[in-house]
Amino acid sequence: MASFKPSIARNPIDGAAATLSGEVHVIIGPMFAGKTTALLRRIRSEGNNGRNVAMIKSSKDTRYAIDSVVSHDGIKFPCWALPDLTSFRSKLGDDAYEKLDVIGIDEAQFFEDLYDFCCNAADFDGKTVIVAGLDGDYLRRSFGSVLDVIPLADTVTKLTARCELCGKRAFFTLRKTGEKQTELIGGADVYMPVCRQHYVNGEVVIEAARSVLESRKLQSQPCFEAAPAI
Ligand SMILES: [Zn+2]
Repeated sequence: MASFKPSIARNPIDGAAATLSGEVHVIIGPMFAGKTTALLRRIRSEGNNGRNVAMIKSSKDTRYAIDSVVSHDGIKFPCWALPDLTSFRSKLGDDAYEKLDVIGIDEAQFFEDLYDFCCNAADFDGKTVIVAGLDGDYLRRSFGSVLDVIPLADTVTKLTARCELCGKRAFFTLRKTGEKQTELIGGADVYMPVCRQHYVNGEVVIEAARSVLESRKLQSQPCFEAAPAI
C-alpha cells in the first residue's frame, strides 16, 4: 500500500508533517440509535477499500467484550480498549500508527482527550477519524467532549432511535433507575430511548416514583426495629 503523502505544513508541537487528507466525522445520538453499527459499517467499508483501519473504545465499557466493539445488534469488530486516546499511538507502535488510514472511536463520551486526539490525527497525521458517541447524558446535558469536536468535523450525523413508549423517533436517553452519577454504564436494563414528550413525562413519572418511595422509607423508619424483616 502506498504510504507516501505530500507534506504541506508542520505540526508546531512536534514538527510532524501535516497533510490535506485527514478528516473528522462525528456520529451522535441517544442510546440504541445504531451509532456503533453505523461506525462499524463505515470502518468495514473503509477496510474493504484497502485502507488500514483501527477501532478504539473506552476500557470503561466492558459490557460485551474487552477486545472487540459489539453493537447492540451483535456485530463485532476487533478493537483497542483504552483508558485514554493519548496512549493509542504508543500502544500500537509508531510504525503501525504511520500506516493507519482510518481510526474509529466508539463511546467517545468517555475520552477526555478526544479534542486533541482528533485534531492531531486529522490535521497533522492525515488520518480519517470517525467518532461515535452520545451527544447528551440522561439529563440531556453535553456528555464528555463529544460536542467539542463538532467544530473540527467534516460531517456530523445525528441518529435517532425508536421511543420505547410510543414508537416515534427518539432523540433522548432516559435513565430508568435512581442513580445520579453521569457515567453509569448499562444497557436496556438501565436506559431507554424516548421521544421528547416521553422524556418529559418519563422524568416526571420517575421523579414522582422516587419521592413516593423516599417518603415511604422515611415514614416506615421508626417501625423498622419492631417490624419483622420481609
Ligand atoms: Zn414517545
